[in-house]
Amino acid sequence: MGAPMAGAPNGFAGGAPIGGYQAGGPQMGSPGVAPYPGAPTPTHQSGGPYNPLPAQSPSSLPSTSNSPRIDPAQIPRPVHDPHAVVVKHDTRNDRGGANHPPAASTTFCARDLGSANPRYMRCTMSTIPNSGDLCTQSGMPLTLMVQPLALPHPDEAPILVVEHAQGVGPVRCGRCKAYMNAYNRWVDHGRFCCVFCNHTTECPQEYMCNLGPDGRRGDASTRPELHLGSVEYAAPNEYMVRPPMAPALFFVIDVNPVAVQTGATTSACEAIARTLAAIPEQHRTLVGICAFDAAAHFFKFPSNVAGKENETATKTSQTVKHLVVPDVEEPYSPLPTGLAVPLQENMESIKDVLAKIPEMFASGRHGLPCGVAAIKACVEALKPIGGRVVSFIATMPSGGYGAVKGRTAMGGAYSSSQSNTSIEKVRMGLGTQIPPTVLSRSW
Ligand SMILES: [Zn+2]
Repeated sequence: MGAPMAGAPNGFAGGAPIGGYQAGGPQMGSPGVAPYPGAPTPTHQSGGPYNPLPAQSPSSLPSTSNSPRIDPAQIPRPVHDPHAVVVKHDTRNDRGGANHPPAASTTFCARDLGSANPRYMRCTMSTIPNSGDLCTQSGMPLTLMVQPLALPHPDEAPILVVEHAQGVGPVRCGRCKAYMNAYNRWVDHGRFCCVFCNHTTECPQEYMCNLGPDGRRGDASTRPELHLGSVEYAAPNEYMVRPPMAPALFFVIDVNPVAVQTGATTSACEAIARTLAAIPEQHRTLVGICAFDAAAHFFKFPSNVAGKENETATKTSQTVKHLVVPDVEEPYSPLPTGLAVPLQENMESIKDVLAKIPEMFASGRHGLPCGVAAIKACVEALKPIGGRVVSFIATMPSGGYGAVKGRTAMGGAYSSSQSNTSIEKVRMGLGTQIPPTVLSRSW
């Protein structure tokens, strides 16, 4: 909204009067005189009602009248003020009914009193038509927007997790498999009626509880799923086809002479070493290291070394094997498995190798950098277990698999189809883990 506003006074002052848009101007009777010096300040800039007239950009005026396309400047947008007063919203009222949710553009802090926070689940209509015909005639879409992982307001209570004893699992409807919720009706202490399909299901023995005179369970206030609108169910082992896989990370470091001399290699190694301590679930996370110049270099860390005894850094580094992949045209993984090792057990070994890499490759082999080939080799190494490749590339990958040609050599920056093909290869090699902007920066 800001750009058209700034351009409007200049355009009206110097340009010819445009009849269709002078109707609201205060100085209609003086042609040739700028109509806007005394014009009132448009009100919608400060959050008032939207007034498209003063916001018109002079350049967009002819296209608005001649072209059927929608002028973006004409589209009203909700005013978003980050400093607006926070609206307190209770999802249900004292009488047990649901409250209308606050507008989606407001900053609100919701309290879950039995219905879901509108941040997680919001309907396009807060009043549902009672028939399909009425809904059709209204012309409004009846849609539910579900955002289970939306960021909550800092003052909102966290979502509680429902955990059941091993073997019991979440209590669910016998027919439609809906999870236990606050709106299931209890027939007696051992059976409940599903709110979605009306099916009566036997309650597991472990979940039974006496009912009060109002038909509510005695433990309704202590079990979050019986009095809250949003809860999280912990999935037991029966819900998994296999145990969760360990997260795996492969770091690719540029050790070409240019990268080492400019300090890019040292910076990357130090950054990785600092990051290792912050990686969550270190006992499960697998980490691998790969360096590349004209070839790809892998490091095979010994398994279960650091966890057994306190070895010195020197001794640990001697047990690390250095594996080289010289064939950069058809890169491969030097070992079928084991290049990514558990982080917690090998933390010292990995940090030791990272500290030595800049010195190790100070007099590196000269040749074309094979960045894409190294990434491809890491992808091959991660194939059995899955994972993510994080690469630090300081030189243009101009050699081996997926080589990228220089812009000057190709005679044009973006016109070459071969260059685009190479870029596509790089992206394929990277998967979706590394945004293309990182690559374009290093080129
Ligand atoms: Zn059901």
